[in-house]
Amino acid sequence: MTFSELGLSEPVLRAVSESGYTVPTPIQEQAIPVVLTGRDVLGCAQTGTGKTASFTLPMIEILSTGRAKARMPRSLILEPTRELAAQVSENFQKYGKNNKLSMALLIGGESFTDQERALDRGVDVLIATPGRLIDLFERGKILLSDVKVLVIDEADRMLDMGFIPDIERIVGLLPPIRQTLFFSATMPPEIRRLADKFLMNPKEISVAPPASPAETVAQHLVTVRPSAKREALRALLRSEDVKNAIVFCNRKRDVDILVKSLVRHGFDAAALHGDMPQYKRTETLERFRNDELRLLVASDVAARGLDIVNVSHVFNFDVPMHAEDYIHRIGRTGRAGRTGRSFTIASPGDERYLDSIRKMLGRDIPPYEIEGIETVQAGEEEVEAPKPRRRSARHGTETQSDRRGRRPTARREPAAAPKAEPARRRSAASNGGAVAQAQANGTTRHANGRDSGDDTPFGLGDHVPAFLLRPISKPLQ
Ligand code: AMP
Repeated sequence: MTFSELGLSEPVLRAVSESGYTVPTPIQEQAIPVVLTGRDVLGCAQTGTGKTASFTLPMIEILSTGRAKARMPRSLILEPTRELAAQVSENFQKYGKNNKLSMALLIGGESFTDQERALDRGVDVLIATPGRLIDLFERGKILLSDVKVLVIDEADRMLDMGFIPDIERIVGLLPPIRQTLFFSATMPPEIRRLADKFLMNPKEISVAPPASPAETVAQHLVTVRPSAKREALRALLRSEDVKNAIVFCNRKRDVDILVKSLVRHGFDAAALHGDMPQYKRTETLERFRNDELRLLVASDVAARGLDIVNVSHVFNFDVPMHAEDYIHRIGRTGRAGRTGRSFTIASPGDERYLDSIRKMLGRDIPPYEIEGIETVQAGEEEVEAPKPRRRSARHGTETQSDRRGRRPTARREPAAAPKAEPARRRSAASNGGAVAQAQANGTTRHANGRDSGDDTPFGLGDHVPAFLLRPISKPLQ
């Protein structure tokens, strides 16, 4: 099948062909004709299947007639993270270059003024993360009563991140007569319930996940004492032919510590995590994409779903606490038919997490020895004394990341600006709801820290001490 058989117009077909795509992927083949008829779609598809184009291409067609009024977007796409929202907006730019559609990207951490200005001009396509959209709605800057097409993307991640109450609220603000396209990689009962509530007689489309990274990525496991992890990483970075790599840590503060250490040892490394200001996240990602940065040290949420084709290596500086994160992480390499290499640096206490990863993979991760670095037995008891809590060397006080680690807000789209305060207050309640829902479903996955990159505690109520909401003058490096 070719794209021209799907019912797309000439300007869109030209843009697709200029993108270098000749054959539609299975989700595109099945979803595009259905979306063009105006029917709702329930798509069970992961990133990497071509899912984004399966809704952006027909949306460009649907929206190509008509005009947007000020502050009244004609379509809305909800994404769980800023990076995914930015990726979708790039897709619209690429495929919509021959159509005159206006677009706005509403994500946390960026100027409200610019986003309000874009809304004032009227937008055909609004791409947003839930928190920022609700903020702008509460400020009276946006009316959702003209939305004709709604896309809820990555619904299961929205659930993981505690966004479902926000999504339900947003959908309640939309006109009941609309077209809804709902995508999720998995369909747990809670997601099914939402789909039943939001969709009318949807066409259900389910496509196989892309080739599992477990098959396309060479995996290695290095087991060392905790104090030898950095040295092991450096040795691997020197011995492997690393063109560029993503290094994953479980906690945001460890991302910062590791970056400092790598830079001190002469490596070209920068951090990517949710506590960084958005401009810094975007800039770092851009440098990495453009091969101007070799090592991206990241937390799970910030790097999940990123579509960077040429990553030669993934290093798990920490063993992920959730087996699915292992697959997400190593899947950042070995993309688009390329081969990739991954190394997981474990210490003896990680055996429990490794076991659940092995169970999910259905096989072992081959052990790997690094010359000059002592490896230890996986089951061996940890003998090292715990290190004292890290303090700022200069003042003997807590570091910013220490303080942030204790911020008593629930996990959600991180926003550094003080204006985001209402969203933070709401978030504790929102997550409480999500946790309760998960418990009702018999799952506690996200309640006990689905994103191990965020060590924020749950269940501490709504109160946020004022000092935590003050803007931080200097971005963390
Ligand atoms: P997605 O699942 O939307 O994140 O897309 C995954 C990757 O596949 C992106 O890099 C897209 O640019 C690419 N892609 C999307 N559609 C096609 C296609 N028909 N042929 C080849 N690559 C595609």
